[in-house]
Amino acid sequence: MVKCRRCLVEEASVWIPYAKLHLCKKCFSEFTIKRVRETVEKYRMFGSTDKVAVAVSGGKDSAVLLYTLKKAFPDVRFTAFHVNLGIEKYSEDCLKKAEALTKMLNLELFIYDLKREKGFTIDDFKHTRFKRRICSVCGTIKRQVFNEVSEKIGVNVLATGHNLDDMVEIMFSNFLAGDFEQLSRLKPVIPPFHPKLVKKVKPLFRIPENETALYAFFNNIPVREEECPHVKGSRLIERKRLLELFSKENPNFKYQLLSVFLKKLIPILEEREKEKAFTVCEVCGFPSSTNICGACRRIMELKSVLGKV
Ligand code: SF4
Ligand code: ZN
Repeated sequence: MVKCRRCLVEEASVWIPYAKLHLCKKCFSEFTIKRVRETVEKYRMFGSTDKVAVAVSGGKDSAVLLYTLKKAFPDVRFTAFHVNLGIEKYSEDCLKKAEALTKMLNLELFIYDLKREKGFTIDDFKHTRFKRRICSVCGTIKRQVFNEVSEKIGVNVLATGHNLDDMVEIMFSNFLAGDFEQLSRLKPVIPPFHPKLVKKVKPLFRIPENETALYAFFNNIPVREEECPHVKGSRLIERKRLLELFSKENPNFKYQLLSVFLKKLIPILEEREKEKAFTVCEVCGFPSSTNICGACRRIMELKSVLGKV
């Protein structure tokens, strides 16, 4: 039996390769909360006077995000919100788990229902040319909705549950696609560059996905069991599998990529952003690099296919 390296009493349940630590369940949970607290403080994500919204999807990462933030910062007021995307079966499960989580934490949940608010669901995109790229449309729509919700509920910071694996996977894909705009959205802290926007932060960006899964499991956090039907066509899983192979050879691989991103690439992206001209979308009023933003263009296209315009 391997003993926990922290308490030296309990049996170890987790091996943290990058820190070379064997930890028991309790010490692992404390270790995770400490890392979240340190990340928020080190990157000045928010302070006690900020109003922080937490996007809760029903999945493990955002659930762990809300749970650990509440434990790490008991004096900060967090507002949880959930976007019901209208994806058959999957969205019902997500909503139930988001409700169970906020009930467990004694927090209110603000629910934004895409069908009710905008008249369509993510499933409706199956009828458009985006049918094989629903995840990308879904991401664009969610970003727009997150901006709207943050404005509606009157917060100045928005926290999302991107973990280390998400960061590395998105980094990897955007490198391959040469998409610098998407890459710049990956920064752990995105300051608001327009009065209609809020500061966006990613407090879990240094925590690997297997650790958020273990944390959720050890702490009985309610998380969705349904898989999104649209993830099947996505290349995300394949790319994550590839990155996992590299990590087997080198446990620090993901951290090395992240470090290059933070130290070398972010300064370049920031310079680029300074030169970037942006306007305001004529439809939704949020900042955009074109007259009509990507989300509004996709919504207009969907509505014309559905015969709603
Ligand atoms: Fe949206 Fe794709 Fe995630 Fe499903 S898997 S919720 S379509 S981003
Ligand atoms: Zn718009």
